[in-house]
Amino acid sequence: MSNVPEIYGSLVFNDKIMKTKLPKDVYKALRKTIEKNTHLEADIANAVAVAMKEWAVENGATHFTHWFQPLTGFTAEKHDSFISPTENGGVLMEFSGKELIKGEPDASSFPSGGLRATCEARGYTAWDPTSPAFIKDGTLCIPTAFCSYSGEALDKKTPLLRSMDALSKEAVKLLNIIGNKAVESVITTVGPEQEYFLIDREDFKKRRDLIFTGRTLLGAPAPKGQEMDDHYFGMLKSRVADYMKDLDEELWKLGIPAKTKHNEVAPCQHELAPIFDTTNVAVDHNQLTMEVMKKVAEKHGFVCLLHEKPFAGINGSGKHNNWSMTTNLGTNLLDPGKTPAENTQFLVFLAAVIKAVDDYADLMRLSVASAGNDHRLGANEAPPAIISIFLGDELTAVIESIEKDEFFHTSEKVSMQTGAKVIPHFTRDTTDRNRTSPFAFTGNKFEFRSLGSSASVAGPNTILNTAVAEVLSQFSAKLQGTAEEDMEKAVHDLIRDTIVAHKRVIFNGNGYTEEWVQEAEKRGLYNLRSTPEVLPRFLDPKNVELFTKHGVYTESEMNSRHEIKLEKYCKTLHIEGKTMLSMLHQEVMPAARKYADSLAASIAGRKAVSSSISCGSLEKQLEKIAGLYDVLVTKTEVLDEAILKAEEMEDLEALSFFYHDTVLAVMEEARAAADEIEVYMPDEYMPYPTYTKMLFYV
Ligand code: ADP
Ligand code: MG
Repeated sequence: MSNVPEIYGSLVFNDKIMKTKLPKDVYKALRKTIEKNTHLEADIANAVAVAMKEWAVENGATHFTHWFQPLTGFTAEKHDSFISPTENGGVLMEFSGKELIKGEPDASSFPSGGLRATCEARGYTAWDPTSPAFIKDGTLCIPTAFCSYSGEALDKKTPLLRSMDALSKEAVKLLNIIGNKAVESVITTVGPEQEYFLIDREDFKKRRDLIFTGRTLLGAPAPKGQEMDDHYFGMLKSRVADYMKDLDEELWKLGIPAKTKHNEVAPCQHELAPIFDTTNVAVDHNQLTMEVMKKVAEKHGFVCLLHEKPFAGINGSGKHNNWSMTTNLGTNLLDPGKTPAENTQFLVFLAAVIKAVDDYADLMRLSVASAGNDHRLGANEAPPAIISIFLGDELTAVIESIEKDEFFHTSEKVSMQTGAKVIPHFTRDTTDRNRTSPFAFTGNKFEFRSLGSSASVAGPNTILNTAVAEVLSQFSAKLQGTAEEDMEKAVHDLIRDTIVAHKRVIFNGNGYTEEWVQEAEKRGLYNLRSTPEVLPRFLDPKNVELFTKHGVYTESEMNSRHEIKLEKYCKTLHIEGKTMLSMLHQEVMPAARKYADSLAASIAGRKAVSSSISCGSLEKQLEKIAGLYDVLVTKTEVLDEAILKAEEMEDLEALSFFYHDTVLAVMEEARAAADEIEVYMPDEYMPYPTYTKMLFYV
């Protein structure tokens, strides 16, 4: 193992490097830009660019790229070399402030949801100095925001940064009003836990469903699944352990604080969690982590699957988004703390999050909606599609006492100055580990657990930040102008009223049960089960009002994003349907016929020897396969027709419902027929690796 402190961040142009490489005044100016979001002057940018290039070249880089996150969900990069020819036939390695600050990639092939129809194909990438540059495969990568000629966001980072600004602004305002005048800014922090599968590369190459869609569309369950619970936290197999070790090192070099790794519930499933960071950096790091996971897997003869549901019948993969807010003075606003003053502050922010999640539950649900994640949410392996909050017994008791204006008794007997309610210092262990809750308070942060494993965490955090910013601004409006001596009571009343109005969203029970579905309906909570059902909520007037008010999305940006999401859903299902058809026609049917032919040949062969040799069992087997084959052919025809029909539909929203309600259902039936044939077919006839082979031979 290499020396960790030495390699950690060795490929990052981080603060330490900047301090040594930059002239003092330049460093100071840059820090100011990073911390206070101020404009960076051209001469400063030039000086930074020179230092950055020198450092990059010293570390083996020959190219630079503006690294950005278009609406494809992946990251994008276009590489330019540093070389600049000299008169005498040589080259210099050059990089200017202009090149650092702004890039102009051709944006025409990135999704814009119609945004670009009215303007140029050109897009701009703009340096985001709040996320450090790094070297990847010999290229200096500069994190950037990506927007259109007219300034509309074409990426995931821009709205995220806007939402962080909105939250900071509203949080500072409220803190100042309730008496905390020292705070100047508030950042949101995120620690995303990432789940993934590792399977053998040779198996992957033989499965066109995995190649084209990231998930298995066919495959009978292995005789053993995850029912023995023997994989979770189990011993790492040496090949996997080697992979994880290598992965950690690669991430550390990039300054990604990979901290925890373990086996997950399903066979071949694992998890990696970093230490939390500011949301912006955490989002970039999570994108990089997913990329590095795949790359390192290749080196080890694996393929890393990040799809939400690669295998039917066993758990899929998600991402837990741990989230909190911290002031520039270092106070975690969701830490209940030990002293009464902090408690009041904590309770205000807690109440704000509760109200935000209740008011914008549809958006929260939407932020995690995708074709892949539809297979998990509500499927008793991931939180239900109903968004609710888990607070744990102790905090719930506190909330209830506030609601009833009762004194909350704690063992420590501390009380708030007003003699009202107080909450005990929280030890982390007092919060239960309720894995069924979509949004759980876990001691000093909330854990949003509905996210899919493959998606960027930018979207959910943009929505969460904006919703909380909105509620904070409502709180400020209520409290503004209150005299200092009345403030405690006003705050207390605000917290109580908020809890009374929004306690319906709090649920500490088992979210996997049918009773909860019914109870949630009684409480008037959304239960938006599928992506087509939830997507239209984005353009609900209340939600348009939210994002435009806080300057996070313009209305046209919202329209474009809505269209992109719908399109993506439909395209995903279309590819899945076509891939399944190709497997059925070109792989399963021929294999079944071949097997049936071999049975028929055996029967004929025996009969030719002597009519007295028994062929009864062979005939039964042949009959079985022939019968299943007929079913398969019928189901495949239905699927064929459904896809053809989909291809003729034009209205995107109607199409999304058609894919969900009809195509997916037909695919399920065709799969059942193919998988049943697999059960009766000898391995040697199987056209692709089985679940048994893929999941238990690593
Ligand atoms: P778990 O038991 O869920 O694994 P951990 O303490 O390991 O809990 O935390 C899970 C994730 O939450 C880690 O990525 C951790 O860094 C992150 N986390 C901890 N505190 C905060 C915070 N204040 N804001 C955001 N994320 C946090
Ligand atoms: Mg967790």
